[in-house]
Amino acid sequence: MKHANVALFVPNNGCPHRCSFCSQRSITGKQVQPSAEDVRKAAEIGLRTLGPKAAEAEIAFFGGSFTAVERSYMDSLLDAAQPYLGGGKFRGIRLSTRPDAVNPEILNVLERYGVTSIELGAQSMDDGVLAANGRGHTAQQVRQASELIRSRGFLLGLQMMTGLRGDTDEKAWKTAEQLAELNPACVRIYPTIALRGTELGEAYLRGEYRPQTLENAVALCSGLLDYFERRGIRVIRLGLHASPELERDMLAGPWHPAFRELCESRRFFVGITGELHRLHIPEGRLSIAVSPVCVSQAAGQKKENLHKLSGLGYDARIVPDASVERGGFKII
Ligand code: SF4
Repeated sequence: MKHANVALFVPNNGCPHRCSFCSQRSITGKQVQPSAEDVRKAAEIGLRTLGPKAAEAEIAFFGGSFTAVERSYMDSLLDAAQPYLGGGKFRGIRLSTRPDAVNPEILNVLERYGVTSIELGAQSMDDGVLAANGRGHTAQQVRQASELIRSRGFLLGLQMMTGLRGDTDEKAWKTAEQLAELNPACVRIYPTIALRGTELGEAYLRGEYRPQTLENAVALCSGLLDYFERRGIRVIRLGLHASPELERDMLAGPWHPAFRELCESRRFFVGITGELHRLHIPEGRLSIAVSPVCVSQAAGQKKENLHKLSGLGYDARIVPDASVERGGFKII
């Protein structure tokens, strides 16, 4: 199932709080509230470009707290999507919202409108981290909202962040474990970026907040990626999308245009070195067979993995092998 093929960004006008890291304008690259007409136009374009594949896709409302926006505005967007659902058109609607903006009554409304998937911005399952970043909800509310969403038959997506104020790798791992227990269909992982105009950005400029380094974020997120995928939970996003606004407002933080690739490469390196250790191969020449689609990830950006292996005494080369599954490898 594709997670979103037509996405509209609804900036944060529904948010009762202002999270420490949030600059919706920079993150979504949009400032204007979409109208019902924008929904119709996006759906028409989506149908034309996707053709029959639209039937597997959803119309998605991202970027804010969708179920906390003014009800008549929310209704107008969902109404506009109705003619484009079913009958070979889009399979449903996907949206993202806050855990404290989910209740049985709102889920009734979303069900009637044909909403199929709901993503919750959990960000952390540590109440201290949530409070330190002005989230305005607790970990327990994430649990309750997740259970409610799943019990009503919606697909659940969960979003987490790393490197928030007060967060540590250990707390991030506990967050990942608790999110996995909620049985989401998918997760998104976002390392925190300090943006101009946000509370964290100001704290960074005052020297009171230090974001993760890129290296630390890649090390942590590659482990989280592996953790979720081993449990059958798809990681549908790792790191913020590039946008001119993000590049303009970014003050500091582990942002990279190919963040996921870096994490996938790191995962290969950790897996390969772990296997060499397990097989008691201390050094020497080796071929590492990987799926043809993973050759560059296994070698690493600018062949970083091969260079690091060389530094450890291995003269390694990566060979494509269609019999190896994506993400896997064989040492020959
Ligand atoms: S809930 Fe989301 S959109 Fe609202 S202020 Fe926080 S991060 Fe921004």
